[in-house]
Order: sequence, then C-alpha cells, then structure tokens
Amino acid sequence: MPEATSKPLRICVLASGSSGNCTYVGHGDTGLLIDAGISAKQVLERLEASGLGDAPIDAVLLTHEHRDHVQGARVLSTRLEKRQGHRVPFLATSGTAGQIPMQHRPAGMDYLEPELATAVGAFEIQAFSIPHDTAQPVGYRVEIDGWAVGFATDLGRSTATVEHHLRDVDIAVLEFNHDLEMLLQGRYPWWLKQRVQSSHGHLSNEQAADLIERVATSRLRHLVLAHLSHENNRPARARAAAHAALARSRAPEEIQVTVGSQTHPSAVLTLESS
Ligand SMILES: [Zn+2]
Ligand SMILES: [Zn+2]
Repeated sequence: MPEATSKPLRICVLASGSSGNCTYVGHGDTGLLIDAGISAKQVLERLEASGLGDAPIDAVLLTHEHRDHVQGARVLSTRLEKRQGHRVPFLATSGTAGQIPMQHRPAGMDYLEPELATAVGAFEIQAFSIPHDTAQPVGYRVEIDGWAVGFATDLGRSTATVEHHLRDVDIAVLEFNHDLEMLLQGRYPWWLKQRVQSSHGHLSNEQAADLIERVATSRLRHLVLAHLSHENNRPARARAAAHAALARSRAPEEIQVTVGSQTHPSAVLTLESS
C-alpha cells in the first residue's frame, strides 16, 4: 500500500475500441502512454481536454502491432520529442517492434522482454505475454510508489500468466470486447466471428468477468472495461457482466466501474492514499 505522503496516481483512457487505443497513466511529474492507436493530434487534444495538457509523457508502451494500437506512433514520436525536449522512448517486445508497418513506426524503438521488469523513470514496468493473433503481444503491469495498474486488452482467453499480473492491483484495465450472443447473431462474416471468439482473438464479457472475479482483491478501486466492440457489444451489457462478477469477488463494494470509449476520453481516475 502507498505511503501517506505518496502522490496521486492518475489514469485516463483517451480512446478504447477496435478503431484506436491509447491510455495515459501518470504520477507526480512522470507519466506514460499505453498504445498509440489514434492520431498524435487526437492524443494531444484529448490530453488537453482532460486537463492533462501539461502532463509529462516519459515513455510510450505498445502492446502489439495491430493498427488500432500503433497507427499514431510515428507522428506521435516526433510530436512528443518536440513537446518534451528530448526523444521519448517507445517500448515494445522485439516481436511487436519488428512487425510495426513502416508508415507507423516511431523514430526509435526500445525493446522489452516479457516477464523482465523494466524501469522507466520511477515506473516499474512488467510486460507479460497474452494470447492474441500477432507476433509477440503483451499486457502490462505498471507499478509506481506502491500503486499498481494492470492492463490487458486484445487477448483470446485468460492464462495463469495474465491472472498473475492482474492480481492485486489498484486499477485494472481489462478488455470486455463482445457479447457472445451479439457476436454470433450479428452480421460479421463467419470467419471473422471465428477469429474474434478464438483463443487468440478477444475476450467476451463473460470471459472478462470470470477473469476479474478470480483476480480482484480488496485493493481494487477502479475497473475499466476496455476495447468494447461497437458492433458486438453494448456498454450496459459489459457493465452488467462486470458488476455481477465484482459482487461475487473480493473487491470492495465501492469499486468504480468505467467504460472506455472510442470517441471521447474517460474521466481522469485519481487514486490518493488515505
Ligand atoms: Zn485492438
Ligand atoms: Zn489486436
């Protein structure tokens, strides 16, 4: 648990969904982004609109090479270098870095290894492997000053590794991609339905709910439902699954549930030590 003197942890989901993803995590005078799947202009505008226009960005962590996670990376690397006055590292596994299309590739890449802790300023970053249909996809556990954030989107199923890293966090950002019934009855072609629900596709509301029920502890304060499918999900359905799971879990009753949006940033979720 954080010391009484610790600074607040702030997180803002700037965009979430199959068209683009980007999340801000900050603490005191340091901060980072997870994914760069919206344009650099949108990243900076949404930070500004959220009152984070002056928030430092010391690194950008990429989860995998799908377009909705990297398409803003190249321009963002240039814009952040100007904004911060120095090169801002973009970190990814070597497998992901090698697959980012040239037109999206940031000016410089640093590599990280799943399961090895990496220090970025005061942040301790741990990437962990997730099952998804890309070269070397990861989720992240980010720790700073006693706070812990668990982040996992774009995974076809849960694994012991995923649950290990999402356990006992203050804030969890987890994919609630689709409602299985809506997916199966919806208008996606058969092959795409198969891909989404495969073990290397995306988590359904029920799968994500089961996962959070298993990993939530009394420490959990915020759960963010992320990467909802516009076509095959509804916020109310994802929320219902999440709330039912949380009620069965060890999470405190006052936990806040937030749904990430494609079109606008979430509220800035702030945790202060008591
Ligand atoms: Zn995605
Ligand atoms: Zn993906």
